[in-house]
Amino acid sequence: MRLRNIPGADEVVTNSPYCINNPAQFKGLYKKEIFKNDNPIHIEIGMGKGQFITTLAKENPDINYIGIERYTSVLLRAIQKVEEEDIPNLRFICFDANEILDIFSCYEVDRIYLNFSDPWPKDRHSKRRLTSSNFLNRYNTILAKDGRIEFKTDNRGLFDFSVEEIENHPLWKITEITYDLHNDATMNQGNVMTEYEEKFSSQGNPIFKLVASR
Ligand code: SAH
Repeated sequence: MRLRNIPGADEVVTNSPYCINNPAQFKGLYKKEIFKNDNPIHIEIGMGKGQFITTLAKENPDINYIGIERYTSVLLRAIQKVEEEDIPNLRFICFDANEILDIFSCYEVDRIYLNFSDPWPKDRHSKRRLTSSNFLNRYNTILAKDGRIEFKTDNRGLFDFSVEEIENHPLWKITEITYDLHNDATMNQGNVMTEYEEKFSSQGNPIFKLVASR
């Protein structure tokens, strides 16, 4: 995501009723204190401008959605799109997913979406990729036993790396995979496009997707 420093973004994020400003305080308590129901929690890490998670939240009122994005300048765009609407099952957190264990307790999350995650192409940065084994270990802690990870990208290098990390991990396995999502009738059923997915598929790039579980 191209970054621009947008004056006032921090303030808009802090004041938005959609944003959870002190997420560590709600570790283990999102259902009870934030959503006030016992519905499953699905999160998207690196939600960007939020089209995907916002659409899902409107389609599935019985699921609680939390979008996580590191930069206020990006999150601001998502907030601007929903501020006139009332979507009670949707919240955003401005946070670096590196520290995700600080904000979710064991098994608190039922599904993790990773869409068009930053590729970090240099080998020495591979640990920063959101599908690296360090992250798979963290997801193992926060994700319910029958929970799953859904990952989409158009970046073949990142996708191949992710397949390898999952296959080499003692706990995770790939349960579904496609190298051309939009032409895979089964896996594309109900697909909600992200901003990046629209952009890159319109340039002719195939979209890769995998689902991982334990
Ligand atoms: N999911 C969106 C955006 C993809 S761009 C889409 O598909 O359109 C990747 C996004 O992930 C960027 O906005 C970036 O700021 C965010 N991101 C990358 N690493 C992150 C991290 N460690 N924690 C939180 N957000 C992160």
